[in-house]
Parts: sequence; C-alpha cells; structure tokens
Amino acid sequence: MPPTDTAAPASPTALPDPGGHFGPYGGVFVPETLVSALQDLGRAYEAARTDPDFQEELTHHLREFAGRPTQLYFASRLTEVLGGARIYFKREDLLHTGAHKINNALGQALLARRMGKKRIIAETGAGQHGVATAAVCAKFGLECVIYMGAVDMERQALNVFRMRLCGAEVRGVEAGQKTLKEAINEAMRDWVTNVRSTHYILGSALGAHPYPMMVRDFHRIIGHETRRQILEREGRLPDELVACVGGGSNAIGFFFDFLQDESVKLTGVEAGGRAITPGEHAARFEGGRLGVLQGCKTFILQNPDGQIELTHSVSAGLDYAAIGPEHAYYRDRGRIGYAYALDDEVLAAFQKCAATEGIIPALESAHALAYACKRAPEMSRDQILVVNLSGRGDKDVQQTAKLIDPEAPAP
Ligand SMILES: *Cc1c(COP(=O)(O)O)cnc(C)c1O
Repeated sequence: MPPTDTAAPASPTALPDPGGHFGPYGGVFVPETLVSALQDLGRAYEAARTDPDFQEELTHHLREFAGRPTQLYFASRLTEVLGGARIYFKREDLLHTGAHKINNALGQALLARRMGKKRIIAETGAGQHGVATAAVCAKFGLECVIYMGAVDMERQALNVFRMRLCGAEVRGVEAGQKTLKEAINEAMRDWVTNVRSTHYILGSALGAHPYPMMVRDFHRIIGHETRRQILEREGRLPDELVACVGGGSNAIGFFFDFLQDESVKLTGVEAGGRAITPGEHAARFEGGRLGVLQGCKTFILQNPDGQIELTHSVSAGLDYAAIGPEHAYYRDRGRIGYAYALDDEVLAAFQKCAATEGIIPALESAHALAYACKRAPEMSRDQILVVNLSGRGDKDVQQTAKLIDPEAPAP
C-alpha cells in the first residue's frame, strides 16, 4: 500500500504539470520520433480547449450526434430491493454507439480536423472504442484504420462488422496474446510511420501526455451534467459516486467535478475476475506495482521480472494491465477509493439491474453496480448513491447467456 498523503488535494485543474505528471505518475515514455508529435498535439489541444468556437462545435455534436445530455435516472425498484441509499444511474448507456466512448471520439476527431489530419487510427479491445471512432470518422469524412487483436476480432465479430459498415478498415493483430495490449503497440507503430497525416485517437485516460488529461477533459461532461441534475432533483450533492475503472476514462470524467467536494465519497471499481491471483484478474491496485507501460508510469500488473502479467475479466473493456495515472495519484492522496468486483458478483448485478429496472447494463458498468449492491444497504435511506452506467449491455447478451446457462441454445 502506498502512503496516504493527508494534505489538502492540489487544485485538480492544475494537474497534470507541463510534463504530464500527476505526482510521480504519468509522463511521456515514447520513442523519440513521437515526442514532437505529442508536443504538437499538446499545443493544438491547449489552443482548442480555450477556443470558444471549438467548444461550441463540440457541444453541438455532443447534443445532435451523441445524444447529450444523458438522463440522471432514479432507480426506484433497485433502491427498494436493496433497502438503503437512494440509487441514481447516470445514463451514458443511452449515448449513440452505446457507451461513453463517443464523448472522447468526437472531441479528438474534431481536434484532428482542426490540425489538418485526414487519417485516423485507433486501437480497440472489446470494439466499443473502435465503433465510436469509426462512427465519428464516417460522420466527418475521415479515413479510419482500427487495430484489433485477432482473438478480440473473433470474440467481438459483431463490433468488427459495425466498424466495417461505417467504412473503417479493421486490421487484425497476430502478435502476443492477440488482444488489446498488442493492438496498442501496432497503433503506435503506425503512428510513428505516418505521423504527418495521421492522428491517433487513444480510447482511455491512459498513455503518454497529453492523452490522460485530454481524454479526461472530453469526459468531464459526465460529472458536470450529473452535478447539475442531482442539484435540480434532490437539492443537494450526492453522498457517493461509483464507476468502473478500466483505463479509467468514464470514472475520472464522472468524478472530476466533485474532486473538491470532500463530502462526496468517490469509488472506482476494478475487475476482480475469478480471483485476486496472478493471471486471473485485472485489479491493478490489488496486485500491481509501479512501472511503465505504453507511454506512462503507473500501476501495472507485472511479474517480479517486470514482464506484463496475463489479465482476465468477464468484461473485455476492463481487461487491461495498466490503470490511468491520474487514478494512481488520487488514490495516494486518499481522495478516490478503489474496490473490485468478482466475475460472479458482476453477473449477478447484471441480472438484477435488468430484472428490477428493465435496463441491461454493459458488463463493465455491472462492476459498479455490483459494488452498489453491497454498498447501498450499508447506507441510510436518506443518502444518495450515483452509479455511472458507462454503457449498455447489448454487446454482452450472447456471452452472458452462455455464462448463465451453458446448456441453453445461443440467443
Ligand atoms: C471501454 C469501456 C469501459 C472501460 O474504459 P474506461 O476508460 O475505464 O472508462 C467501461 N465501460 C464501458 C461500457 C466501456 O465500453
């Protein structure tokens, strides 16, 4: 366990520093050829961030194309069944293409256009980020290449088809475990070669500076809306917010506008997989150590020699060996707490949410729900717990059908 720094949190807007550091985490650990590309990107982003025209254009597309604002929904039956805190869902699952990922894909595509880059590359694991990126590229007429591990392409054939329908080229990656980590390596290799014409839309609050900051900022709209909506609805701030944490983008976007409200407890939920033993989970704060992976310094699941550990989660979107650097920073300071949910608990929460609320959540989001199912009964009936429903479960129904009843015919 790292020491908990009890000093008042630094102003969140002051982070990261100009070198991309969140305390000891983050930074820029990339090949020499990418350093100037990342500096150009940082400058272009800084100019866009403070340009009212850019912000207005982004707001317009978030509303018209993505479907913002999303509802803050009172989960009345789940609240009743659990018998504790009042539970609300922030409905990112209602966004176009099915998850929060579109917030970031839209922001970065507009930035690429502003930088005069006409070719987009991206990596994808489960395919959600690939679909969001392919959709925005179709909308803005940008060339789009998606890197995806060959194993993931097989597991997520439907999303591969969706990307291709939107005009993207999906390139299978045959190296290593043939999953997300290898797809990111391949995307970085492409970027090194084609950096003049190409922008790389990274899909989470990860990687080298400025990505963790930029991706966070594009998702801050989630917490910003939540704050306004809960104040309208309940006349006060919530007692606790909970979100699942893969790379950490939906969680940091949801939490950010509440970081300075000490009365609001913030909880991130990692993938506990089958058990917290090497190779069986993806809970970086449970089994991980400080290291460098794919551009930044953070908590990583690795063996004693520094080899990246195999990971497992029932949800592909949380199945990654590193966590966004800003999460490591706020964990050290004791501002954000982290828990994990096991596959079985996640599957139970997935079913409970569907049966009580008529909402089928993504398996990723069901990690936050699994925590809420344990936590809400410990809270009193006048307390408020808000769950970020990062995505919808349509993509997961075939997999969960098999897990719930291995004998039943496929839906
Ligand atoms: C990709 C994904 C996640 C995990 O990514 P973060 O960057 O941690 O948010 C969570 N939920 C859904 C629905 C996703 O598609």
